[in-house]
Amino acid sequence: GSREFDRLAHGYNAMAEKLEMTVAAQERSKGELRRVHDELLSSSQTLKERGEVIELLGAMSHRMQATRTDAELAEVISIFVPRVMPDLPGVLYAYNNSRNLLVPMSVWGDPRDVGQGFPPDQCWALRRGQDHYVSGKGKDVTCDHVHADVDAYHCEPLLASGEVIGVLYMDGLLDEEARFRMNVLVENIASAMTNRRLQRDLKEQTIRDPLTGLFNRRYMEEALTLEVARASRSEVPLCVVMCDVDHFKRFNDEYGHDAGDAVLSLVASELGERFRDGDIVCRFGGEEFTIIAPGTSKEDLLRRVEDVREAVSKLSPRLRNGPLGSVTMSFGISQWQPNMDLNGADLLQLADAALYRAKRDGRNRTVLHEDAPLPK
Ligand code: GH3
Ligand code: MG
Ligand code: MG
Repeated sequence: GSREFDRLAHGYNAMAEKLEMTVAAQERSKGELRRVHDELLSSSQTLKERGEVIELLGAMSHRMQATRTDAELAEVISIFVPRVMPDLPGVLYAYNNSRNLLVPMSVWGDPRDVGQGFPPDQCWALRRGQDHYVSGKGKDVTCDHVHADVDAYHCEPLLASGEVIGVLYMDGLLDEEARFRMNVLVENIASAMTNRRLQRDLKEQTIRDPLTGLFNRRYMEEALTLEVARASRSEVPLCVVMCDVDHFKRFNDEYGHDAGDAVLSLVASELGERFRDGDIVCRFGGEEFTIIAPGTSKEDLLRRVEDVREAVSKLSPRLRNGPLGSVTMSFGISQWQPNMDLNGADLLQLADAALYRAKRDGRNRTVLHEDAPLPK
């Protein structure tokens, strides 16, 4: 009887042990299920956030590609970057025209010490041509352009076809998600900046004369129409100067076409520098130039033109170091009157008539239009 009882007890214990094991296994798989569930939930949350960010980046790109000025592009960037990367103040620095400084183009949040700009060798990201981040005080070398109080920051260079065009600076510590967003941002912004630059270069080509760099005749005509419209609405005077190099043919004939071109470039840069900032200096064609001078009466302009004429006569044009002799120019000035036509044709014709008179009277001189009767 007791042996029977032992067997039963043994069997019972084995069963209880199995039961315990099964319960433990169930608990374990419940835990596992909970973990998988949480993981799924968080990755669906990440996916949702990614979706939102991608949508935001799409909207940003679309706007960036549609911008027409650098200022518009800078504005789109300063609105969208803080939306894509909240709570991180930052600055987008872009190279200036002479490519010796990185100057702030867009600023968002309230970053410390934005400054006026810095030379490229002050940034470790630009020196090494790759992103540079410091995750805490003393953890890595700090760029010179970064404020001393900043503990953690991130610099990411902007590249366009292998060439560095700027750097994106973020003030703060970036987690993995923020770094992913920053990479996408940098690519989008770099491509928009390249587009903007191409558009600007293309526009420049259509309005500039390639030999002298002055505005071309097409641009002059557009500008003149605008200025005449402005003058006709206000009391502000508007004058036009037509000028022409004297005996220019001689330079070509004596020294060759290259010499003529060298004279034109020299004369053009003198004209470009000596007129006021608001004046529009253009190459009309050949060796003739037009200057649109808003806000000056013809008497005041005469003084400036005389200074320019004298300065030109003191130039010493050279080609491959050989002197080409001296150069002089003749000038005609006209001032807009309300009885003139609105496209500026009368104004140009009067200045041209005055120039013709200057030539006839012996060249190297300036004539005001009232001295030259309009040949109509
Ligand atoms: P004037 O004092 O009466 O103005 O005499 P000019 O010799 O300056 O005038 P003309 O109109 O007889 O000659 C202008 C010359 O300019 C003729 C043309 O071959 C030359 N020319 C026009 N465009 C260019 C250019 O882009 N480069 C060069 N080298 N010559 C040019
Ligand atoms: Mg001439
Ligand atoms: Mg001429």
